[in-house]
Amino acid sequence: MSVTQPLPRDSGSEPGEAEYDVVVIGAGFSGMYALYKLRGLGLRLKGFEAGDGPGGTWYWNRYPGARVDIESMIYSYSFDEALEQEWKWPEHFSPQPDLEVYANYVADRFGIRDQIQFETTVSRLRFDDATSRWHIGTDRGDEVSARFVIAATGSLNATNIPDFKGAGTFQGQWYHTSKWPKDGVDFGGKRVGIIGTGSTGIQVIPVVAKEAAHLTVFQRTANFSIPSRNRPVDSDYERDWKQNYRKYREMMKSTASAAVLLGQRTDRSVFDVSDEEREEILERAWESRSGFKFTGSFKDIRTNPEANEIVAEFVRRKIRQTVKDPEVAELLCPKTHPLGTKRLCLDSGYYETYNRDNVKLVDVRASPITEITPAGLRTTAGEYELDMLIYATGFDAMTGSMTRMNVTGAGGLRLEDKWANGPTNYLGFLVAGFPNLFMIHGPGSPSVLAQMIMSAEWQVDWLYDRITYMLARGFERVDTTEQWEENWGREVEAAADATLYKKADSWYLGANIPGKPRVFMVYVGGFDNYTRRCTEVVQNGYEGFAFG
Ligand code: NAP
Repeated sequence: MSVTQPLPRDSGSEPGEAEYDVVVIGAGFSGMYALYKLRGLGLRLKGFEAGDGPGGTWYWNRYPGARVDIESMIYSYSFDEALEQEWKWPEHFSPQPDLEVYANYVADRFGIRDQIQFETTVSRLRFDDATSRWHIGTDRGDEVSARFVIAATGSLNATNIPDFKGAGTFQGQWYHTSKWPKDGVDFGGKRVGIIGTGSTGIQVIPVVAKEAAHLTVFQRTANFSIPSRNRPVDSDYERDWKQNYRKYREMMKSTASAAVLLGQRTDRSVFDVSDEEREEILERAWESRSGFKFTGSFKDIRTNPEANEIVAEFVRRKIRQTVKDPEVAELLCPKTHPLGTKRLCLDSGYYETYNRDNVKLVDVRASPITEITPAGLRTTAGEYELDMLIYATGFDAMTGSMTRMNVTGAGGLRLEDKWANGPTNYLGFLVAGFPNLFMIHGPGSPSVLAQMIMSAEWQVDWLYDRITYMLARGFERVDTTEQWEENWGREVEAAADATLYKKADSWYLGANIPGKPRVFMVYVGGFDNYTRRCTEVVQNGYEGFAFG
């Protein structure tokens, strides 16, 4: 039953436009939940999705080895208890195909698929000041209008392919991991090159190495990775989760990472324990089979450089023990940034891969890539002949998926111009001058540093309450001001300054994209603190919101 007044039906659409109350862009886990949840308001909803199926990140990133780095029982929807009980996760850390199957199941089970227009990319968004409506255009010629737009467009969606000289001349096959062909790729008998050793490279490299005739890995920055120790979900573990889901979900909400077991804060410093005890704690965490639990072993790993270095050295020792060739091992030891300040990777046999005879590691920090050639790739040290080139080179993260949509706000303000010096917004949701446009996992929210399904559910629920509030009072628009954006920007900055995060040239800072402003784009204060702040703002009489 609708708890609000219906929106008026004469609301300023232009001739030929289909009229909606809410348009949701993106059918990943956030967009799907937004479409499901907002149904309760009795509004006219429309979803657009570029892919031909749901799943977002887990639709696009179908490269071999793609796997989530949060345990499956945690990384799943919590909004429906029956879904939690009936779903069976085969593996502890789900591979991409399982997550895509789950997304499709949810889309059908809850009738969400029918609300989405697939294979349609939103290419234009324009706000009309006079009518307080958004006009939305797509690459398929759709023209629609909506009072509200929810951009569930993903933090890591806009593909980054470095602008190498000669890129178009390569005679072999080439792929970016995030736009992987559905039919798969045959590496058999091929000389493959992979550029990039972030989370994606670290997952794809071991798989390609097993299938290709030869693999050359072009590494600019060595990354920290810990073994995922992935395994089938055992029945005792599953039973415990299913019996205690409500309790565990509540616990997740009170953690920094929205993930029970991973994000609980500890009071123990690296320096509170003897060397032997520390080694034992780290060894246990390394073997714990819970992935990121490792960095939660001590409270000061992310904040104190000396503490961080002690733990980083533990990981380097592991790398040196695993990789047989000492020179290769040394090259794989991360030394350019503190542990965890670039996304910590979880792997399945990554370092072991370099013990294979058919794998070569090339240091493109010492000898940078100069060009792509018809036969392969050239660095300052020479040319490497390749039959296939894989770009595991990441994304124009956090902002790319928004700015690529050509968004124009009130008074003709372009989002790209507004964000020329870095993204600004209020609470990660709302950009001043762009009324009624809400972002899920926007810059300035915990996004990629919290379990993204739970934080999407929380953000959507929060938006649902705000839209309900507006409809009940007859408000047509909500905006914020630059002053409140600055206030929030300072909070985001302060949270990052309290950690070591800014010491790495990471995509969190935009450092992976040449010319992108260096602004820390993730709220690292924790999911728990973020949700508390958002709740406080409402309790304080909607601080920073301008309704009209
Ligand atoms: P990424 O972390 O940005 O890594 C890109 C890699 O490409 C880096 O090694 C980078 O080197 C290299 N690179 C970029 N431009 C280059 C150039 N011009 N020359 C040489 N090397 C270049 O991207 P990603 O690995 O796709 O991961 C992005 C994020 O997606 C992750 O951090 C994570 O949040 C998420 N992800 C998660 C999972 C999971 O759940 N398990 C899996 C994959 C991805 P530099 O480091 O020197 O820039």
